[in-house]
Amino acid sequence: MDFKLSEEQRMWQESIHAFVAKEVKPKARFVDETALFNWDAVHKMGPLGLLGLFVPEAYGGSEMDAISSAIAMEELGWACGSTALSIAAHNGLGCAALALFGSHELKVRYLTPAAKGNHADGSYSQLAALALTEPGAGSDLKGGVITRAEYHNGYWTINGTKMWCTNASIADFIVTLVRTEPGKGSHSLSMILVPTECEGLHIGAIEKKLGVRGSPTNEVTYQDVCVPADHLVGKLGEGLTQTLTVLDGGRISIGAISVGLAQSALEEAVQYAMQRNAFEQPIASFQAIQWMLADAATEIQAARLMVYYAAWLKSQGKSFTKEASMAKLFATEIAERVCRNAIQILGSYGYSQEYPVERLYRDARLMTIGEGTSEIQRLVIARKLISEFQ
Ligand SMILES: Cc1cc2nc3c(=O)[nH]c(=O)nc-3n(C[C@H](O)[C@H](O)[C@H](O)COP(=O)(O)OP(=O)(O)OC[C@H]3O[C@@H](n4cnc5c(N)ncnc54)[C@H](O)[C@@H]3O)c2cc1C
Repeated sequence: MDFKLSEEQRMWQESIHAFVAKEVKPKARFVDETALFNWDAVHKMGPLGLLGLFVPEAYGGSEMDAISSAIAMEELGWACGSTALSIAAHNGLGCAALALFGSHELKVRYLTPAAKGNHADGSYSQLAALALTEPGAGSDLKGGVITRAEYHNGYWTINGTKMWCTNASIADFIVTLVRTEPGKGSHSLSMILVPTECEGLHIGAIEKKLGVRGSPTNEVTYQDVCVPADHLVGKLGEGLTQTLTVLDGGRISIGAISVGLAQSALEEAVQYAMQRNAFEQPIASFQAIQWMLADAATEIQAARLMVYYAAWLKSQGKSFTKEASMAKLFATEIAERVCRNAIQILGSYGYSQEYPVERLYRDARLMTIGEGTSEIQRLVIARKLISEFQ
């Protein structure tokens, strides 16, 4: 792999960095403290192409290559974990499911405004969401999903409850994984697009969380929610396979956000270590501090290259399931460690809300859980690895 960024990718990185430094990073503390979503910044993202990263230009998207998309997610993660998570869920989960598997009609009606950031009448659109997880099912979707969709007279009627749905309360539509056949067979699940204006759809209060507090997470209840037959996303019975395909891409985004969070924590730690004195010298002169900084810089570099590599494989149309899981596993775990050590370097100030490293630590903690826990990533990697030897 040639990991040197192209001129276009470098310019994209510079422009996104400048944008998030101005519009997103300064409000990161505010959105964390208030749990208010940063709509001001997000409304400016449509024209920049940040809301349609994986959407073809024909449907209003920017159709970025996978490395450029990862760069955007890293920059967003560097600026604000909450905003980054919502934009990742919008692009990599809700929109990606529709872009990959939706019909032309669904793409024109729902994907185009989502990717552009506005409806045909010029009003702002909301975001996209993907609801997989349920109160009793997260890692084991195949066996655990009980939200049911029944077909009758040209309509799907959906009943059930989804949990931890990012963006549900700020979404125009939620692509929902439902059981369309009884039993737990591989072909018993399907994806259905549910507009949030549907009668019988109840979106719960924003969950109170440890981190990523400015990214709304909601429970979603479906009570006889009725949608037309053509709102099926992809093929009947292919919901599980489609979900796994979407998650492969999503994991690159979560890895990239984690690199950004870690980079931000490292920058804070270096600056602090250079100006804080102890024993009549800057703490940056102590080897114990230097080693933490050196390890962080090394791990971030490795994680970034793993994310780029998985993204490059995706761009080449090659299999990238194992590499996306490796990148997510490594990047999320090092991000947690880097943020933890940044707090250590800042001492008591690191533990205080006066500095951003405690927020970065709380935000990073989520990344080892969402879109497949670290344990599930290891399971995916091991399965692929063993199959390569058979
Ligand atoms: C802030 C936030 C945002 C989220 N956004 C979304 C979203 O937009 N859409 C959505 O559908 N979901 C979302 N989720 C849910 C998230 O993807 C799930 O929580 C995650 O997949 C884990 O599922 P679970 O919580 O049910 O844990 P469980 O599956 O119950 O797992 C519990 C523990 O058991 C371990 N475990 C499970 N199976 C195995 C195994 N086979 N081997 C070893 N260990 C195992 C897990 O690793 C974990 O440590 C979000 C969650 C959060 C917190």
